[in-house]
Parts: sequence; C-alpha cells; structure tokens
Amino acid sequence: MECICSKNNIEFYNNFQLKNFNTLKISSVADIVYFVKGEQDILDIFELYDDVHVLGWGSNTLFSTFGIEKPVIITRKMSDISFRHDTVEVQAGASVQKLSVEACRFSLSGFEFLIGIPASMGGAVAMNAGAHGQSISDCLISVRMYDKNDKKIKVFSKDELLFSYRNSIVKTQPGRFVVLSAKFKLEKKDKNLIKKMMDDNTQFRINVQPSLSLPNLGSVFKNPILPDGQKISAGKLIDKCGLKGFRILGAGVWEKHGNFVINYDNCTSSDYTNVIFKMYDSVKKKFNIELECEIVQAGRLSEPEEKIWKILKKD
Ligand SMILES: Cc1cc2nc3c(=O)[nH]c(=O)nc-3n(C[C@H](O)[C@H](O)[C@H](O)COP(=O)(O)OP(=O)(O)OC[C@H]3O[C@@H](n4cnc5c(N)ncnc54)[C@H](O)[C@@H]3O)c2cc1C
Repeated sequence: MECICSKNNIEFYNNFQLKNFNTLKISSVADIVYFVKGEQDILDIFELYDDVHVLGWGSNTLFSTFGIEKPVIITRKMSDISFRHDTVEVQAGASVQKLSVEACRFSLSGFEFLIGIPASMGGAVAMNAGAHGQSISDCLISVRMYDKNDKKIKVFSKDELLFSYRNSIVKTQPGRFVVLSAKFKLEKKDKNLIKKMMDDNTQFRINVQPSLSLPNLGSVFKNPILPDGQKISAGKLIDKCGLKGFRILGAGVWEKHGNFVINYDNCTSSDYTNVIFKMYDSVKKKFNIELECEIVQAGRLSEPEEKIWKILKKD
C-alpha cells in the first residue's frame, strides 16, 4: 500500500485495507480511499466522482469481504472542535467521545450520552445516534453539508434534517449529503454532575454492551415500536428465539445480549449477514415482527448476500 498525493494534495491510497477502520475488524480492501482534511478536499473529490462512500469511524458499517468498489472518503483527519461560550462547532470526523470529554471540561451538558459511542460526529448525525434518553439532534443548531444533487455546500437547520429514531435525511437519501461540520448549543451545568452522568453511562454500558475487545457494530436492530406506541427490546425478542450464542463460522450472537453480533474469529461479511438474517427471520416467524436493521452495508455483495440485504434494507 503506497500513499500517493493527488495534484490537489489530497492524501489517497489504492487497495487500502479497512480492517482497522471499522469496529467489527472485518478485512475488506477498498479500491481507493481519500483522507480528507477540509471541505475543499471533499469538493475536489466530487469533481472526480459522482458516487462515493463516506466513512466516519466505521462503528455502524459492515464492509464487504469482497471489497469496496466506490471511492471511500475517510473523515477522521477533519476533526476540529471549537467551543465558544455555550456553543460548539465540530468537524465531521471528530470523535464524539472526545467531544463528550471536552464538553465536560468546559462544564457544558448535552453530550454525556456520547461517552462510549465509538463514532464520528458526521456518522452520529447521519444515524441520529442516541442513548440514555438523549440523542445528537437534541442540542443541534445546524449542519453544514455538501449536497451532491445541487453540487453546493448548504447550511441545514435541525428541522430540515428530519430526525427520527436513528434516522435523518443523510441516512434516508444515501450518497446525497456529506456532513462537513455542525453547530450545537449546550447547557452550562455543574461539572461534577456532568462527570457523574458520564460515569453512570459508562457503567451502564459495561453491564449491557460488549467492549470493543469483542469486535462489533453496536446494536444490530432498532427496538421495534408496536402500533400502540409501545417500544420493545429487539434483544429480548432475539433472546426468546433462543439465539444467544448462535454462531455461523466466525460471527455469532453475543451470549449476554441478543442484539449484538461479535466477530469471534475472523468473520466475513457473509458470516455476519447470515447471522443477522437468522435473527431477523426467527423474530419474524415467532412474533410476526419485522425488525429494522441499524447497520449500514457497504461494498460488493455475493448473490445470496444481495438477496438478504434487499429484505433487511427497508427504509
Ligand atoms: C460498541 C458500540 C456501541 C454503540 N453504541 C451506540 C449507542 O449507544 N447509540 C447509537 O445510536 N449508536 C451506537 N453505536 C452505533 C454507532 O456508533 C453509531 O451509529 C454512530 O453514529 C456511527 O458513527 P460512525 O462515525 O462510526 O459511522 P460510520 O459507521 O462510519 O457510518 C455510518 C453511516 O453514516 C454515514 N456517514 C458517516 N460520516 C458521514 C458524513 N460525514 N457525512 C455523511 N454521511 C456520513 C456513512 O456513510 C454510513 O452510512 C455503537 C456502536 C458500537 C460499536
């Protein structure tokens, strides 16, 4: 793998191994990746290509073992965080955990839930990441995005992003928007209270989620909401199907919580896909509930995988 700089000085690599760029530690080679450092790099890349895959910290993305044909833009080197009074402006590739720690340092509340989420700000906005009753959209003011359709950078208000449970227009219109930066308004609070909330959140995660020493992509399915508005735990449904510990080759359902799938032994994207389809199919057959997948799939698919992803990708 050789680093080459294009004429406009964007760092790029051909045949790039993404194993250390996704939290599932899937081995997947991208034909070409670009490490962007600013907005101009992204504008320049869209002069070259019409369709790219944007990668934050890869904590919700299942890369294909057969590789990635689309050019990949990696945002993690575009990571400035700048506080001004009770507002903060954050570039897309910034780590949300760092954001949480920095906000606490300035006695600013609103990002306590981000501690323990191994994500970039751009990925968190795209997925409307949330936990412990808070979500990234709660304290958002606006987002700067590149809109591929209009070939322009625009500023979107929170309302224009149409946030819902783990969803936004960035996710529902894949490939159209690139989050460049976002502005948030936080609330001044006692630093000790903020720290206590972050510690409690960390302890909660230790009890109910696998750490990254068991490579995973977080919750596989959204918690379904029944027609009467009741939210039920996807993990419990999967557990009632007797699937905790269920394995296909290198991938398996975590023994302690049914909504996590672990890369136990060099799993392939097809092992992972087959396990999550088994979870989906079992819950459908037993409870007549169609679970909605939270994971984003990227890259070349085998024929059987393509069939499964057609069923799983519903929104
Ligand atoms: C251990 C663990 C714990 C987790 N806990 C939680 C949790 O509590 N709550 C929660 O909501 N999620 C959780 N997740 C899932 C995941 O962290 C979130 O979905 C997160 O928002 C993904 O961010 P990312 O930067 O890793 O995104 P990636 O996986 O890199 O990308 C996800 C999607 O966002 C798009 N995207 C990324 N950056 C941009 C950008 N700049 N512009 C446009 N699109 C972009 C990608 O193209 C892709 O479609 C967890 C995951 C793990 C592994």
